Amino acid sequence: MIEKNRDFPKEITILKAILRRFMLNPQRKAELENKLSRKLAGYKGEKELDYHLSQMDHTKFKILHDLRIPHNNTHFQIDSLLVSATFLLPIDSKNYAGVLDFNPEFNQLVQTLNGIEKVYQDPILQTQIQASQLKSFLIKNQFSPPPIEFLVSISNSQAMIRNPANNKEVSKRVCKTPAVAYKIQSLNEKYHKDFLSTKEIKKIVKLLLRSHEPYIPDIRSMNLPPMDHIQKGVQCPECVHIGMMKIHGSWICKQCGHLSKDAHIDALKDYFYIFGPAITSRQFSDFLGISSIHQSKRLLSSIDLDTIGSKKGRVYSPGKTFRLWD
Ligand SMILES: [Zn+2]
Repeated sequence: MIEKNRDFPKEITILKAILRRFMLNPQRKAELENKLSRKLAGYKGEKELDYHLSQMDHTKFKILHDLRIPHNNTHFQIDSLLVSATFLLPIDSKNYAGVLDFNPEFNQLVQTLNGIEKVYQDPILQTQIQASQLKSFLIKNQFSPPPIEFLVSISNSQAMIRNPANNKEVSKRVCKTPAVAYKIQSLNEKYHKDFLSTKEIKKIVKLLLRSHEPYIPDIRSMNLPPMDHIQKGVQCPECVHIGMMKIHGSWICKQCGHLSKDAHIDALKDYFYIFGPAITSRQFSDFLGISSIHQSKRLLSSIDLDTIGSKKGRVYSPGKTFRLWD
């Protein structure tokens, strides 16, 4: 049973907003575009893992996707966690392409792609660390944890997994995503003793759901140009030109003539992604590039936003039905 679905990563949404709004030098722009495509590929791999987990018989398991749990002044992340009465199983998803040489004896993974070798941290070690953090988190919360296994799922179908030292841990822990279900099945056959009651499983799931803190990158720590250098204005949903004009209740694009009734909502979201979830009517009119504060107020009042304060100092932030992240 799936207890927690995977949310679309907020980091991807924020990277897209940065690339839309900040005037970046070519090198920084390329770095961020690279990061965005890596994050998108990672997310695609995780969704692939979700698909294969949903296809197997998972009646015996509680499945939680995408957990980020605060523990000992840091956070540990688990791409997918399976909880059963007999064992726990964190699974880490990797989307690396090319030839992948696993060298756990040196705690490294060597990727060869287009003739270039690149060294990564060993995903087996990374996932093992996540498993031990999960164990220590459960102990800290007064649970006696059952055995914890772990797997590394390689989602890129073009990747070639190699195990040059014929290390047993590699063949035990690493597999292509479509094979994850078989690995789980053989682990399931290995464990017979019930360590957790149904009530304890429920409690653990509840604790993990309650503790989960989604990652929201802090834009101020990302070495970006000053905030007052961003491109303001409403973006045309048709041709992506920024600077639509408000005429007779609609936004019109100077570039392609496209008309939109609600293009200001995406602009408001961009403002929230960049400056945080609070805005005044003056800040909104400045960001949209409209001169009338009244118009800005009218637009804000037509959107589901919560308000604090009154008159000039009124601050608007996303309301319950405002879909900031999807
Ligand atoms: Zn346009």
